[in-house]
Formats: sequence, C-alpha cells, structure tokens
Amino acid sequence: MPPTHRRLASALLAFALLASPAAVLLAERGAASAVRSRRTVAVTVDDLPFVAYGLPLEAVRKLSRELVASLAARKVPAVAFVNEDRLFVRGEVDERIALLTEWLDAGMELGNHTFGHVGFTATPLPKMKDAVVQGEVVTRGLLARRGKTLRWFRHPFTQTGPTKEAKDAFETFLAERGYTVAPFSIEHEDWVFASADAKLAAERDEAGRTRLLEAYLENFEARVAFYEERSRALFGREIPQIHLAHANALNARAMPYLLERLERRGYAFVTLDEALADPAWKSPDGYVGKWGPSWLHRFAAARGEDVRALFRAEPEAPTWVAQLDEARRAAAPAAP
Ligand SMILES: [Zn+2]
Repeated sequence: MPPTHRRLASALLAFALLASPAAVLLAERGAASAVRSRRTVAVTVDDLPFVAYGLPLEAVRKLSRELVASLAARKVPAVAFVNEDRLFVRGEVDERIALLTEWLDAGMELGNHTFGHVGFTATPLPKMKDAVVQGEVVTRGLLARRGKTLRWFRHPFTQTGPTKEAKDAFETFLAERGYTVAPFSIEHEDWVFASADAKLAAERDEAGRTRLLEAYLENFEARVAFYEERSRALFGREIPQIHLAHANALNARAMPYLLERLERRGYAFVTLDEALADPAWKSPDGYVGKWGPSWLHRFAAARGEDVRALFRAEPEAPTWVAQLDEARRAAAPAAP
C-alpha cells in the first residue's frame, strides 16, 4: 500500500474507532426501541376498592395509594373494576368511595365488576343482570362528574356463561347497556400468591414474604412467556397483551417490579382500547363452560384446540404457596 493510502487507511481506522462507540450506542438504542415498539400490554386491575384479607381501612388506604402510585409513576393507563357491594361498609362508605376517586384522579378508568362479585357459572341470568345494574350506580356517577361514560365490564372470575344461550343473552344485555366486555390474555394466579402473602403478613413472617415475592415475580415471568408463546402459536406474532391483576396488598408491594419486568421484556403500556383495536382481539371466543380461561385459550377453542390441555401447560403457583393459601382460607372461611 502506498504511504498516502496507508495514511488515509489509518485515518479512516482512527475515525471508525472514534465513531464506533457512538455507532454501537445508536444501534443499541435502535434495537431497544424496536423491541419496545414490538410488544404492548394493557393493564387491568380487579376487585376494587381492595381485597383486604381482613386488614382495616386505614391499612387498605395506604396500600391502595401505593398501588395507584406505582401505576401512575409509569404512566400506565389502567382500567380498574369495581365491586360496589364492597363500598357499603358501615361508617366507611365515603372513605371507600374516596379510594375509587383516587384511581380516577391518577388518570385511570373504572369499570363494573358487578355488585357482589357473582360468578356466572352458579348464577342464573336474571341475577347476573341485576348484579350489573346494582353494581354501576356509584361508579357511573363518579365517571359522569368527570364527563366520562361507564363502558367497561368484566365478568367476576371471568366466567362468561355456562351455556352458549346464557352467554349470548348476557352479552347482548351488556352491549345494549353500553358495556364492552374487558377480556384478558395474561393472568398469574395473583390471588393465590396474595392470599399466601396475607397469611405470612398476619404471622409477621417478613423473611417468608420476601421469599414469596421472589417466587411471585419468577412465576409472573414464566406466565408472561407462556402467553407470548401462545400468542405466536395462534397468530404467528405477539398480539397486544391484556394483563389481569387484583387490588391487594401483594400487588401494592409487587407492582413496581411487575411493571419493571414487563418493560424489560420490551413492553410499552397502552390503553385497553388500543390493545383491543388489534384485529386479533376480534377473533371468536370459542369457550363455553364453568371456568374463566384466558382469551388466548378461548381463541384456540374456537379453532378446535383442547383447552384442558392448554390449562395443563400453564405454569402454576409453587406447591408451598398454594398450601399457604389453603391454610389461610381454612382458618378464615368467611374471608374473600
Ligand atoms: Zn374479581
């Protein structure tokens, strides 16, 4: 190589070395934003005002605020579903309604989850309709004061009807009343972990609670990965996911970590409207039965797949967590 060319080559090399860290950084940023834009999730929270497991209102208020704050901190536009029967506790009605307004003040939306949290599998259709009508009074008023309309409904236990006739009739009723059913794709038995956590908290077993939180987060990741895989198997891509969690003490503690893990997997948080705008969510729901499976299972059922087999493949809560939940329920059968 002639000297001038050699100088040019070394100058180019020096330039490339200087430029490369920035170039690598830009490439990394590009890749990260590509991942970010690839996955989206809408977050939904059930059983407002709160699943208290016997905690007094004072404690519930603090936990509810923590839960709302952790969603608001990441600008998660969540929809939260109310059981209005749980507002009517003597001497606490105003404070309990105030818990709902805090969700609205933080930019979240509220939906109807029935009066009494009645499961459709064991409830006749006329009683289901009554539970919807009775369960919308306060929430509708709170939304109206903000110029908003009550439009979301979630079935308790996501039981959508034991027969096709009952299911169709109830869905027609909901639509006529202005409701859109809020489906979900990701759930992770958070009520089992939360119940176990409530038992450990009552026993002041903080080391146990830390171990439980770790198991909870690990199980959450496994579940999210499972539903991502289900989505790819069904649609050849990952559709916008819809996450279902409950308002409880465990999630008041865990929500920042759950959201962080979703972000690390490349998720951006979107509204329920935005998630449902994806044509995949218009797929037929082929499930009729007593359980309340993920809509990814329901879409598979419509294609003739075996939903029971899909249930079996879902990552479950560890046995020791399930045992804590069972022990707590056995000791307090009247608690939620
Ligand atoms: Zn519920």
